[in-house]
Amino acid sequence: MPTTPATVSCPTCNRPVEWSRHQHYRPFCSRRCKLIDLGAWLDGSHRIPGSELAGESNGIDEDSNDAAERQ
Ligand SMILES: [Zn+2]
Repeated sequence: MPTTPATVSCPTCNRPVEWSRHQHYRPFCSRRCKLIDLGAWLDGSHRIPGSELAGESNGIDEDSNDAAERQ
């Protein structure tokens, strides 16, 4: 019975990556793909939804303060 190595898809280029101890960059296929994904995070391509909502709620707070002063 042959043992087939477990593989995962590289998150950057979707190439199958062998999930083994000597694959240092798993789940990425290579150092390059790992750095590309890291760069995408730093660029803001992977957006965290929570940060935008925080900015909106600040705006709402300022508006309600304005209304209170006028009354
Ligand atoms: Zn890749």
